[in-house]
Amino acid sequence: MQNHHLKITFLGTGTSTGVPMIGCDCAVCTSTNKKDKRLRSSVLIESLQDGTTIAIDTTTDFRYQMLRINNRRLDGVLFTHPHKDHIAGLDDVRAYNYFQHSNIPVYANTLTAEALQRDFYYAFAENAYPGVPRIDLHLINHAPFQIRSLHVQPIWVWHLKMPVVGYRIGNFTYITDANKIEEQEKDKIRGSAVLVLNALRQEPHISHFSLAEAIALANELSIPEVYFTHISHQLGLHAAVSKQLPQHIHLGYDGLVVYV
Ligand SMILES: [Zn+2]
Ligand SMILES: [Zn+2]
Ligand SMILES: [Zn+2]
Repeated sequence: MQNHHLKITFLGTGTSTGVPMIGCDCAVCTSTNKKDKRLRSSVLIESLQDGTTIAIDTTTDFRYQMLRINNRRLDGVLFTHPHKDHIAGLDDVRAYNYFQHSNIPVYANTLTAEALQRDFYYAFAENAYPGVPRIDLHLINHAPFQIRSLHVQPIWVWHLKMPVVGYRIGNFTYITDANKIEEQEKDKIRGSAVLVLNALRQEPHISHFSLAEAIALANELSIPEVYFTHISHQLGLHAAVSKQLPQHIHLGYDGLVVYV
């Protein structure tokens, strides 16, 4: 029996359009398998020691993602990059402001912080309107930091030419929206017990790992347990693609819970 420290819940595992995609009649979008229904990509990380709870990104679907798992606590948000599918739901941290009587600390690199200040300008106004989301914005770089009991190591990866921040918390690493990782950043991932990695589709893509590229990277890093996320309807049916994968590599799906 392993000694687990973290509970990871997959809040969403879809690419920016979600699956099904509006107006699409393909086999994946019309599948009746619940594992083929993917909201935008995010995970919730909970400490089994003290309950500290953090989300990676606040997606377009953030409100519904928190409702459907009945989440009652949020101690912080780690942002990966400023694309809309990863930040759009920030407004709905208001519920946590209200019930926790506190601001929500959010962590972002400069690029993402600028987007947050632009897109959610009203939350940063000098005399903010009552009822706006109350957030404390923390700028991050390469240095590790602490959110209550959780030690967080940023891992910088490339999304074509855009830097994206992945995160390692203990032996759990989450990397989304990448198509390239430099050697010194790979070293920060090595030794993880569980890795979540983006795998968009079978065909190569300009700014995301394909399925084959993601499998190759998972093998190169020798991670014992790997889950793919940020999945497009073009990847194929969950059940069919899962059968092609090595035993230690899995397709993520919404609602999946993993202990690390
Ligand atoms: Zn994305
Ligand atoms: Zn489709
Ligand atoms: Zn992106």
